Amino acid sequence: MDGSYARDSLDQQPHWPGRAKVILIAGGAGFVGSHLCDALIGNGHAVICVDNLQTGRAGNVAHLMTHPRFRFHQHDIITPLMIDGPLDEIYNLACAASPPLYQKDPIHTFKTCVYGSMNLLELAKSKGARILQSSTSEVYGDPEISPQPESYRGVVNTVGPRACYDEGKRAGETLFWEFGQHQGVETRIARIFNTYGPRMHPDDGRVVSNFIVQALRGDAITIYGDGLQTRSFCYVDDLVDGLMRLMSSDEAMPVNLGNPGEFTMLELAQMVLDQTGSHAALVRRPLPQDDPRQRKPDIRRAQSLLGWAPTVPLHQGLARTIAHFAAELGLPLHRVEMA
Ligand code: NAD
Ligand code: UDP
Repeated sequence: MDGSYARDSLDQQPHWPGRAKVILIAGGAGFVGSHLCDALIGNGHAVICVDNLQTGRAGNVAHLMTHPRFRFHQHDIITPLMIDGPLDEIYNLACAASPPLYQKDPIHTFKTCVYGSMNLLELAKSKGARILQSSTSEVYGDPEISPQPESYRGVVNTVGPRACYDEGKRAGETLFWEFGQHQGVETRIARIFNTYGPRMHPDDGRVVSNFIVQALRGDAITIYGDGLQTRSFCYVDDLVDGLMRLMSSDEAMPVNLGNPGEFTMLELAQMVLDQTGSHAALVRRPLPQDDPRQRKPDIRRAQSLLGWAPTVPLHQGLARTIAHFAAELGLPLHRVEMA
């Protein structure tokens, strides 16, 4: 790594009132990260949120800004960071996760996955902190088997538009594993499958936010390809519970976290239309290159090692997410089926 990088000292208050652990969340102002901040603060911990606000929003953690056990630092993790005082745990959630957004600056995405992971691993080593990596189902690429167990090695294109993210995350897993094997760092690796919920950015470009915003606005629902490709959607509260359980576990090898319910994009579009009461039309758009045809997690390891399984079915999570977007965008809700 280039030794000329500046070393930022994040000016942290040395005394945390009544804290249990000091936990750093990189990417804490993002969609998943902000929910994790809430959960850890709620559990009595002190949280240092580090984020460059590339795809996250300060508004996601605005309600925590005056909390005595919360600190926010705007910082890009591709540059090394130093923290004064103790640090018990680090969650690395920093990385754009939406395909159009991580493809905007692919070199930066790759640096985030590799330099960023390296910088956080060095920080964990220097502090004796345990560190969790948010890896992804994208390490399986366009999978040839379904569901995908952790033992499956995947089919990933190294030179396509998704490679900066997929290969960056694969390299990140390698870094975590090597720091665990040879540097004495306690590492955890979560392979996260598609997750959705309140605080996704409305213009994020991912399918759940796109369909809900389009339905609420009465715009056409954009189906990429024939809409028969599948995804498995996990509600964010379930994921956050899984991440915290994995951090507390002894498991250093990758663990899938996702909801095994599998839906085509046409089925998802219909559910969103039904639950919003929208009469928006469906329009076909070209399928993006290397778009995986199917994705469904095998969660047997998470069940046996963590005692974890998702609890929020898609229709229920969609209802909560639709209500959130309607409120955020000030758009009328024709109908939301609350379960
Ligand atoms: P998000 O884009 O909402 O959040 C990512 C956060 O990281 C943002 O706040 C962004 O500003 C920040 N960030 C990005 N690059 C950074 C950098 N170089 N330095 C500091 N901060 C940086 O995405 P999300 O859905 O909340 O995803 C969180 C993590 O979970 C990501 O690492 C993603 O790869 C992983 N993941 C998410 C999903 C999902 O479906 N949500 C699926 C698989 C993996
Ligand atoms: N998709 C779609 N319409 C959209 C956005 C996405 O049909 O407006 C499809 C996309 O082609 C993919 C699936 O929905 O097959 C999930 O896309 P997303 O970007 O949410 O995440 P991915 O799992 O591809 O990383």
